[in-house]
Amino acid sequence: MFQKLTSLLGSHKVFEPQAVDQAWLQDQRGRFTSTPLAVVFPHSQDDVVRLVRFCCDQNLSVVPQGGNTGLVGGAVAGGDRQILVNFSQMNRIRALYPQDRVVVAEAGCTLLQINDAAGAHGLRFPLGLSVADRCRLGGNIATNAGGINVLRHGMTRHLIYGVEGVLADGTPLHHLVRVPKNNVGFDVAQLFIGTEGTLGLITAASLKLVSLPQNTLSVMVGCQDLVFATSLLHRLLGETADNVESFEIMSREALDLVVQHRGIAVPLKTKAPWVILTQIILPHFVNPQQVLPALTESLKADDVAVAMTQEDQETLWYPRRELPWVQGPSIKNDVAVPLSELPSFLETTQTLLARAVPGIRPIIFGHLGDGNLHYNLLPPLGQAPETFLDQAPQLHDLVYTQVMRHHGSISAEHGLGRIKKNLYQQYADSGVLSATQRIKQIMDPHHRLNPEL
Ligand SMILES: Cc1cc2nc3c(=O)[nH]c(=O)nc-3n(C[C@H](O)[C@H](O)[C@H](O)COP(=O)(O)OP(=O)(O)OC[C@H]3O[C@@H](n4cnc5c(N)ncnc54)[C@H](O)[C@@H]3O)c2cc1C
Repeated sequence: MFQKLTSLLGSHKVFEPQAVDQAWLQDQRGRFTSTPLAVVFPHSQDDVVRLVRFCCDQNLSVVPQGGNTGLVGGAVAGGDRQILVNFSQMNRIRALYPQDRVVVAEAGCTLLQINDAAGAHGLRFPLGLSVADRCRLGGNIATNAGGINVLRHGMTRHLIYGVEGVLADGTPLHHLVRVPKNNVGFDVAQLFIGTEGTLGLITAASLKLVSLPQNTLSVMVGCQDLVFATSLLHRLLGETADNVESFEIMSREALDLVVQHRGIAVPLKTKAPWVILTQIILPHFVNPQQVLPALTESLKADDVAVAMTQEDQETLWYPRRELPWVQGPSIKNDVAVPLSELPSFLETTQTLLARAVPGIRPIIFGHLGDGNLHYNLLPPLGQAPETFLDQAPQLHDLVYTQVMRHHGSISAEHGLGRIKKNLYQQYADSGVLSATQRIKQIMDPHHRLNPEL
């Protein structure tokens, strides 16, 4: 089988698993190892078409992979009937249309690469992920990635005009629309967005670009409670006419972890229980110094640090960027709750968690502007991580039950992958489940694409 595949695509595109960089075979959280029949690196849409047709003939399945930064085990190929298709070699910026504010990029482009190309024209693709140098466009689209700029620019879904891809029977699809308005029949791009490679393989996409901001302000605010934090968001959105690029939150415990591991100083006066980090976009012709008094007044907060230069803003944001890397073993939750329900959600959940595991240490941070919290749980001090991690199913259940009671989402931006696929069966509405099963049945009746999801 391997030989046939090599003759079909060429030995420079088809590899035994042991011959590739082993990082491609281990998921980001170190929970799964891929053991595929082969790892294929396509160079073109035509390569993908030929590969999928070969898989149909040989009854093999295909697991697509981008930068392998996903956090739910979605890009893992297990078993000798599965092929891991890594898109990193399909990484050309095909065209950039500055006047249309559109770029057409291949699935293996990193966000950094796309933004370098757009930046040369004073533009950018505003999907804000801290792994911009590693994650790849196909993975971003397949997970409908979120990140720190969703408040102003929406999820990946809102930034895609069209896609080029390959369907489960090897049919190539060309839909690289370059206009924001296109109501011609079904929007087939949506079949590829957020479906984690289970309905089709993405080979390229046309993306919306926006202006590269040159005049920004970042502010850190110490807050006593979430009611104040959410009212601050509403005030800022109102007073800047929605020009708030991002509005992030860190609990004191989360911030202290970064301070402890990275030895940094935080420029706030108090040890407030919550810390907000926000970035505001100003028109180019406004001097930030001039808006400062009015801005400080409108924050109505005592404990504030403002950064105006690029360098100072990067320093202010450093603890938020570092947070994902300093937590150690934890039970991870990526949840969203409507902002109006967030204070009561947190209060109830914290009480229940403390009752279930006295001394449990929630590390809460995330995209407050979207109601999206990374609500991670660390063991009580002195408890072995393995003992604590054994309780993951009950503790997830506790958190998700509260999320559902508060009309939220149990996976706000990371998707389902292998880790959450069963939860979906448990928490999704039966009508929604029925619709997704029917779509899958039509698009991929033999479960050829990412079959474990
Ligand atoms: C430190 C850190 C911070 C993160 N922050 C965020 C964040 O703020 N917001 C957020 O949303 N995510 C975040 N993530 C998760 C992750 O980076 C994103 O989900 C990202 O979009 C995944 O892209 P990838 O290229 O690495 O995809 P992969 O991990 O390679 O794949 C993800 C999924 O997409 C499918 N896929 C990949 N390529 C294709 C393709 N060409 N066609 C069809 N399906 C495909 C895979 O099969 C898999 O199901 C973070 C991850 C890390 C490690």
